[in-house]
Amino acid sequence: MNRIYEAGAYGPQGACFWRDTVSPADWPKLSGPHQADVAIVGGGFTGLNAALHLAQSGVNVAVIDAEHPGWGASGRNGGFCCLGGAKAPDALLNKRFGAGAAQDWADLERLAVQHVDGLISQNHWDVDHHSRGETLLAHTARKWAGMQADAVALAETYKVTPQLVPRDALQAEGLGGPWHGAMTLPIGFALNPRKYHSHLAQAVHGAGGRLFAYSPVTGIERSNGWVLHSPKGAITADQVIIATNGYSSENLPDWLRARYLPVQSSVIVTRPLSDHEQQAQGWFSDQMAYDTRQLLHYFRKLPDGRFLFGMRGGLRATRCENRSIAKRIRQNFARLFPAWKDVEITHEWSGLVCMMAGLTPFVGEVPGHNGLFAALGYHGNGVAMGSYAGKRLAQHIVGQDRLPELLTTPPRRFPLGRHRRHLLRPAYMVAELFDL
Ligand SMILES: Cc1cc2nc3c(=O)[nH]c(=O)nc-3n(C[C@H](O)[C@H](O)[C@H](O)COP(=O)(O)OP(=O)(O)OC[C@H]3O[C@@H](n4cnc5c(N)ncnc54)[C@H](O)[C@@H]3O)c2cc1C
Repeated sequence: MNRIYEAGAYGPQGACFWRDTVSPADWPKLSGPHQADVAIVGGGFTGLNAALHLAQSGVNVAVIDAEHPGWGASGRNGGFCCLGGAKAPDALLNKRFGAGAAQDWADLERLAVQHVDGLISQNHWDVDHHSRGETLLAHTARKWAGMQADAVALAETYKVTPQLVPRDALQAEGLGGPWHGAMTLPIGFALNPRKYHSHLAQAVHGAGGRLFAYSPVTGIERSNGWVLHSPKGAITADQVIIATNGYSSENLPDWLRARYLPVQSSVIVTRPLSDHEQQAQGWFSDQMAYDTRQLLHYFRKLPDGRFLFGMRGGLRATRCENRSIAKRIRQNFARLFPAWKDVEITHEWSGLVCMMAGLTPFVGEVPGHNGLFAALGYHGNGVAMGSYAGKRLAQHIVGQDRLPELLTTPPRRFPLGRHRRHLLRPAYMVAELFDL
């Protein structure tokens, strides 16, 4: 594998809270030759949702993961099942894909949340579900004014009624903090991502799909179909889906080189907060929330009273940079939630999300590679969109769906090749200025 961060970004998961709630299942390693109709590289939400739909459609499917399925971002995210997945502004979407594309994208976002909601409710999966939609908190008076101005358009786009909460009513809503106002869009919910993932994996298995762990794909070759090589075995398949998102390699396949940008995101979780502590801060809401900064903070009270707080991670995956991010995330947490500044932090980890140069995900066939597909690039919002992308790609493969151009347009390359993450430093500096 040829990846662009230091080895630390691809090493152990860190003290991830979700790992304490669900242990990874004991899937076999790939050994010897195997055959499948469709082989999927990557056992996160994208790969497993694709696998589930394929297996349920009678397709012989195998999922192969370099670590254990769920080891990547799907097993270590904030658990916000929410709108999102692209960073392109509406005007850019309409310009690039034609009038109405921004509305088409918003419809996809809603369908993505509905897809995960449906999977969970129809199968009665216990995922520690909470939060009625997602709450956006204005970090400046200007952002609050903008939020109020945007509410009407958002209501039309997403066909819901946003709830606006002015500054003086935040405390009563349990949203106490240095905010100038809040807006809740009643779409989405929070979940324990590892529980959702574990149910998905069992469902794939139950539907006849095969899962392999600790079996890195080290080469992809076209020979009478596609052959995926791993150190102890190989899979030959008619079709292959690459579902490796931020953990992708430059050479799997070569076409991917510089077409995606992994970016680190970091999370801390506190010990459970007592009712008294929650009242002292004024935050006792069950809502999942984020702020209006470009380098945003995302946070929520977990069902057992712990508090999860996340933000952008380091530019490098070195010990020194990790120490600096650990310090920074504590500083930001203490600034926004001062009553909890001395509360013990029990868990801390980071992982890779995936950005694209065109600011939209790619879900489709790799140009010039008949039967090789990829789905990636959810810009840090892949719980819903990654799940839905996997399902839509599977539907496309079995001929039940035609993917929209919005998803199938091939991503262009970032400048600077394998050094492209250095673009993040100036981008972060500019964003920090805007966030003041
Ligand atoms: C800290 C953090 C917080 C986040 N919070 C949220 C959130 O609250 N809400 C939200 O919507 N999104 C969030 N995200 C983003 C979201 O988790 C991802 O978009 C989503 O999980 C991507 O799923 P995936 O299946 O595409 O990729 P992943 O879950 O990353 O899975 C990719 C898999 O591919 C495997 N792989 C890679 N290369 C190979 C190879 N050569 N051979 C075999 N296997 C390989 C990896 O081992 C990995 O398991 C967060 C991400 C992070 C890191």
